[in-house]
Amino acid sequence: MIHKPVLLKEVLEYLKPKAGENFIDCTVGFGGHAIPILKRIMPNGRVLGIELDEAVLEKLQSQISNKRLILVQGSYADLERVAKKNNFYPVNGILFDLGISSWQIEKSGRGFSFLRDEPLDMRSDKGSRLTAEEIVNQWPEKELVRIFQEYGEERFARRIADSICWVRKNSLIKTTQQLVEAVQRAVPAKYRYRRIHFATRIFQALRIAVNDELNNLKEALPQALEILKKDGRLTVISFHSLEDRIVKNFFREAARKDFLKILTKKPVGPDLEEIKLNPRSRSAKLRAGVKI
Ligand code: SAH
Repeated sequence: MIHKPVLLKEVLEYLKPKAGENFIDCTVGFGGHAIPILKRIMPNGRVLGIELDEAVLEKLQSQISNKRLILVQGSYADLERVAKKNNFYPVNGILFDLGISSWQIEKSGRGFSFLRDEPLDMRSDKGSRLTAEEIVNQWPEKELVRIFQEYGEERFARRIADSICWVRKNSLIKTTQQLVEAVQRAVPAKYRYRRIHFATRIFQALRIAVNDELNNLKEALPQALEILKKDGRLTVISFHSLEDRIVKNFFREAARKDFLKILTKKPVGPDLEEIKLNPRSRSAKLRAGVKI
């Protein structure tokens, strides 16, 4: 399998899909969650799967064709519009499984991994304009510092931005390994041997900036709550603290206004068994609620 779904058992527990119900998977990916949901809503329910990455969607389409599974290329930031356009009502549950898949990191050739040498692209959506290369080579130093701090929570943000600006004065930084070298020059030697690679946070920051990931999430959550039917369920899996904070705050605010009943007092993570089988699940946090 090209992608192991994260927290699948828990997703099914919280969404409780039943025959005849309708679910939206906002990040359908390779269908790791959508297909098990589809099996449970048959024969009369439907699943609407949204996916930003055309290459991913094409792979899924080549693997499954089922008229109860509607696949749409687009962003979950347009959730309400996509649901309307597809006449997708009533909605019993909505899932977000944020971030990118292992296939995108390892096989897409778009520079998501500091372990490979690829062009610095990082776009999930081929149609969007901004690339990681443009950010790294053209954004002012203080903007680099800002995204490394804000989206990477990187403690050496200033030093790394300074190093990048020094390198790019002489020659453009076009590949992931050129970027890794520029980062390496800036971090203290002992960081080079940590378990977490010293470029992890910089790559995370660039990916978030290129794809405007946090804003998309902020836009999508209220739309999800809006289109859910009463008693409908919302489940979100996030992979780093910035995403989780947005989800947590949104859930708390919605609960305070009596729009949502929170089902997960604390976020739910994977057990040791799952972490062993699927390292991507390591940092996963699931939050779920029911619309009131
Ligand atoms: N649940 C899926 C894996 C999802 S990985 C499975 O188990 O197969 C997250 C997916 O969300 C990736 O395929 C990524 O391309 C997609 N994605 C990222 N940003 C998106 C957005 N704004 N709108 C829709 N999909 C998005």
